[in-house]
Amino acid sequence: MSQYRFSRRTENGAKLRVSFEFFPPKTDAMEERLWETVTRLGPLEPAFVSVTYGAGGSTRERTARTVRRILEETPLTAAAHLTCVDADREAVDTVIGEFAEMGVKRFVALRGDPAEGVGAAYRPHPGGYTNGAELVEALARRGDFDISVSAYPEKHPESPDFATDIEMLKRKVDNGATRAITQFFFDNDVYERYVERARRAGIYIPIVPGILPIHNFAQMVRFAGGCGAHVPAWLAERFEGLEDDPVTHQLVAAAVAAEQVLDLIERGVEDFHFYTMNRADLPFAICHLIGIRPSAERSNARPAAA
Ligand code: FAD
Repeated sequence: MSQYRFSRRTENGAKLRVSFEFFPPKTDAMEERLWETVTRLGPLEPAFVSVTYGAGGSTRERTARTVRRILEETPLTAAAHLTCVDADREAVDTVIGEFAEMGVKRFVALRGDPAEGVGAAYRPHPGGYTNGAELVEALARRGDFDISVSAYPEKHPESPDFATDIEMLKRKVDNGATRAITQFFFDNDVYERYVERARRAGIYIPIVPGILPIHNFAQMVRFAGGCGAHVPAWLAERFEGLEDDPVTHQLVAAAVAAEQVLDLIERGVEDFHFYTMNRADLPFAICHLIGIRPSAERSNARPAAA
């Protein structure tokens, strides 16, 4: 008789922590979908939810609006992403002040990608913060914020080698970052090796795996190409022939993400950050599998202010 695998014990849910990432919606229809997603995932009591910031501050207003709505209408803790792209220090500091004023205590601090798109050479604004580490320093100077930063298990495409990449992460930690969230990846050995490298370099903050449930395989491949995430051949084979079969695609995507998360739990990981793409179904299913269930007592929605 085989024993339960550690990851199959649903009481694990009690000690596992999740966070969910959203992007600010562009249209009313997208806003409605995001809100359905927040309403479904909120009762899972994530450690926090985060809202991304578009290139060059292109979503500044929408990011702020989304964060504000989460803070005002739900009991969730909201983290605002912030980048250094195409903005001088004063402009970035102003945005930090605006978020702080609305009650934001958590940030995900990033350098960002060039406004022309991923792959174009990054040129820091002449009067701006040049990278994630400088932005972390600016945030830490301005308040007692919880600051997350990025980490790249397969190294950032601009890093010439792992040593340079880890060195940048170390600078961010030295400047006040308290958590790193990884770029998505599909090979858990790669993640584990990266964490070992970071620990050897004296980095002891949590390095939370970023999990991307694959809603659309072709789109994910395009995205992965830009951010240096490797798409293994076995993964491509699993989605082969499912372009016009959304139901099977969805089932396979759930199986792939579940397999990855359960394996990470076996390896001792207790925190997960989900790139939700503003969709609840896959993250909700994976959370259910690992024992994270909606709280019976807490409802996501607060009564609207009179
Ligand atoms: P940094 O940490 O400053 O640098 C990344 C790496 O690039 C470093 O490891 C460093 O070694 C290398 N590097 C940088 N500059 C140089 C140089 N001059 N020479 C050599 N090596 C160099 N993007 C958005 O626009 N909005 C978001 O909301 C957003 N959220 C994200 C959330 C997460 C969890 C992650 C992982 C990424 C996110 N991104 C977002 C993408 C991110 O902006 C890009 O990956 C960007 O290219 C790098 O930003 P960074 O903060 O990681 O950069």
